[in-house]
Formats: sequence, structure tokens, C-alpha cells
Amino acid sequence: MRTRFRVFWCFSCYALNDHPCGPCDACGEPVEAPVGLSHVDSLIWALRHPDGDRAVVAARTLGRLGARESAGALRAAADAGADIYVRAEAVRSLIAIQGAESLHPWLETLARDAPLNVRNIASQALAAGTKEGMP
Ligand SMILES: [Zn+2]
Repeated sequence: MRTRFRVFWCFSCYALNDHPCGPCDACGEPVEAPVGLSHVDSLIWALRHPDGDRAVVAARTLGRLGARESAGALRAAADAGADIYVRAEAVRSLIAIQGAESLHPWLETLARDAPLNVRNIASQALAAGTKEGMP
């Protein structure tokens, strides 16, 4: 049997550990996820994952699932995510879950102040909403 190098992200602080459970090397909290964590909650956790690809997939999946309980976390990721791809995917998913209309003031802010890729998504959603609203 070969020993493979594996890493485990702490559920509390996202620090890397070499053990899948037990106290985290960085924060002392359990490395493992709480027992009974739901699929949606694990995706919400992954939104802040240091591995941006995982966070993007989590944001996209929450949108596909239409997970309303993730709206707050998606909005936080969209507003303050370190990774512009995570931010963009979080905005897309939030629009899918809540609709552009209910997000109107927020989308206007994004369309003005956010990084270019996020700005484009917000602008397109606002434009589509305006067309639909016309008589
Ligand atoms: Zn930790």
C-alpha cells in the first residue's frame, strides 16, 4: 500500500491539516464538518473555500438547486469574495434564485462599482429586466 499525500481543510478556519478529523493545527477546532451537515450547508461552506475552483462550483450548484437559504451567503460572496470568478458566479446564482427585479438596487451598485466581469452580469440582468417590464 502506498501512502498518498492528502490534505484536509479545517471546517472552522480553512487551514490545511494532514489529518481528516480532530483538532485543527491552526485553530484547535475540529477539522471535520459537523455531523449531519446538509448538502446545501456544505456548499455554503465551500463558497469561502481557498481553492477558488471549488468555490465557483459551489456557487454555481447553489444557483442550480435554487437554494434560497444560501442567498445571504451568496450575497456575501458576491460582495466580498476575493476571487472575481467566485463573485461572478455568486451574482449569477443569486439572480437565478431571487430574480433580477428583487435585486435591482444591488445590481445597480454592482453594475457601477464591481470588477468588469461582475459589472457585465449585473448590467445584462438589469437590461433583461427592463425589457421584460416594458408594455
Ligand atoms: Zn482550523
